[in-house]
Amino acid sequence: MEDQASGNSEQHFDQSQHLSSASLVQRQNRILIADDESVTCRKLHGLLTGQGYEVVVTRNGTDAWECLQRDDTPLLAILDWMMPSISGVDICRRLRASKARPYVYAIILTAKDERPDLIKAMEAGADDYLSKPFDADELRVRLAAGWRVLALQDELRTKALHDDLTGLLNRGGILDIARREVAKTVRLGAPMAVVLADVDHFKDVNDVHGHDIGDAVLNETAQRFSAQLRDYDALGRYGGEEFLAVLPGCDATTAARVAERMRAALSDTVVTTRGQNIRVSASFGVAAVASALEPGVAELIAAADKALYRGKSSGRNRVEVAADGTRAQP
Ligand SMILES: [Mg+2]
Repeated sequence: MEDQASGNSEQHFDQSQHLSSASLVQRQNRILIADDESVTCRKLHGLLTGQGYEVVVTRNGTDAWECLQRDDTPLLAILDWMMPSISGVDICRRLRASKARPYVYAIILTAKDERPDLIKAMEAGADDYLSKPFDADELRVRLAAGWRVLALQDELRTKALHDDLTGLLNRGGILDIARREVAKTVRLGAPMAVVLADVDHFKDVNDVHGHDIGDAVLNETAQRFSAQLRDYDALGRYGGEEFLAVLPGCDATTAARVAERMRAALSDTVVTTRGQNIRVSASFGVAAVASALEPGVAELIAAADKALYRGKSSGRNRVEVAADGTRAQP
């Protein structure tokens, strides 16, 4: 059987992360098989594809680990204990040591069937344990249990990263994406930008119309901003009435155009809610990676914030772009 580990589809994973209101687990039905025995691989492959799974097969520990490192890693892995280069149990150990990755549910498959073996595998971070020769029905129900765990974990994670009011990513969620995109920019040298938006005089909206209408205005603002972004951009509620957009592949000029569209989308049409027409605007600060002296998220957002402040102090309802930090230095 050929090694079916597919090529790099980093873009695919990033997009699914950005659209993270949809479940990562729900969209995945891929399983990694890592086993050096052709017979076991063939049997597993037949059973799993028969159950509708997409299967990635690797024949040694190095290939398996490489596959699990990819951005589009299968979220469930059936790992042979004894195989060349890296054992299944060592792969479990490595998986649990790398916290930043999506959680991979690992089932150890092995001819070892003594209780101390099971304990060793589970202590190394395996989620489950299946002895060879395995029973097809047992495999099926254990996989079902694995997907249940992954789905629950994904649901909790999704909740933890989203804002209840607007349904956008929350501060933690959008910062996660910003961090990942900045790291990618540093690695690949591609541009990226952030847009920080702050609703003008929002306190007045709350004071004059009440908090329910204030909430409705924030919701409408979130929707209008979202509508101006591409699928692979990300938008989060950064603070009370502050929003942060992360724009991969955009330089400052392009990002400023996007911000200008967001600005117009909010201020050109009144927000109508509960019979009230409310004119709302926002000010925007744009910063691209080149604007930050150090290529870090904090620096990038600080640069956007500084630009935003300039927008506020020069009349609001406008877009300001951060100066290029790399060139600003003598
Ligand atoms: Mg083996």
